[in-house]
Amino acid sequence: MGYSKKICDNVRQKLYEMRVKSCEELERKKKLFFSRFPEACEIEKKLALIAIDSARSVLSGSNAKEELESLRKRSISLRNSLSKILKSVNLPEDYLELKHNCEKCKDEGFVDGVMCDCMKEIMKKESYGELNSISPLELSSFETFSLDYYPETSETGGHSPKDRMKLIFDFCKKYSENFSKKSPNLIMVGNPGLGKTHLSLAIASEIINRGYGVIYISAPNMVTKLEKEKFQNYGRDSEGSEKHFIDCDLLIIDDLGTEYSNAFSNSAVYNIVNSRIMMAKPTIISTNLTMKELEKNYSPRMVSRIIGNNIRLEFLGLDIRQKKLKNSLNQ
Ligand SMILES: [Zn+2]
Repeated sequence: MGYSKKICDNVRQKLYEMRVKSCEELERKKKLFFSRFPEACEIEKKLALIAIDSARSVLSGSNAKEELESLRKRSISLRNSLSKILKSVNLPEDYLELKHNCEKCKDEGFVDGVMCDCMKEIMKKESYGELNSISPLELSSFETFSLDYYPETSETGGHSPKDRMKLIFDFCKKYSENFSKKSPNLIMVGNPGLGKTHLSLAIASEIINRGYGVIYISAPNMVTKLEKEKFQNYGRDSEGSEKHFIDCDLLIIDDLGTEYSNAFSNSAVYNIVNSRIMMAKPTIISTNLTMKELEKNYSPRMVSRIIGNNIRLEFLGLDIRQKKLKNSLNQ
């Protein structure tokens, strides 16, 4: 799954820390136990020597079978003695063995080259963390989205903003419930403060929860990141964020059009959006700009690429944040 490099690095570090902690915990238990039962410590030393002798015997080859059998018998007898000591103080047989959070992969994260479920779970949690840290809101969900702030009457006679938002809300909820790596692209268009960020974050949370790799980033942060990496890695063959933006299962670009626009940003954003379209990978874009304004900021080929390959969700009405603020002050 296309997680960002930062997430992968963090997860690797977390797994490493888990392994270190397990070793430290075992050392602590052994120290305590051996101080009370020094004979158990002697048994453990003997078992360690048997392990070395067994390895030596295998390598030497001569009479290995007989020697190994005798070592095995001695090892069983020593283990039985150790078990008796543990039993005498009501401790489990495996009390002096290394314990992992995940016994399947021993906290390595992989089993036979395949990512373990425990690592997938940690990846998801890390993605949440990254999502929270770059999002202007607390992690939003569909449950915390309220339609109460949208007007029930329409000024133009068509659908009221509330009815329209209900349709958009239901669409977004269904989109995340039925999400697959081949889901369609979405573009959320409308003035600031109408819930575009809230709904795109809610989609992101839901989809991360289902185990997909999601990157949620604002257009200005994305361009800054790409620009920085371009100069840092100049002349070096290194894989940067661009690859993750292209590879992840779902890319959400918030606030397209608010980034500082220049030839570099235009071609960087176009390349990512276009590559994902070519690979039929879903992207969600939200923007405060109209299509005409977008055309002014970007090349016509970029805008036609976006328009031609997205389901457009139009957010209408006035900034509901003011209404929310007023309500909270009156409470
Ligand atoms: Zn595991």
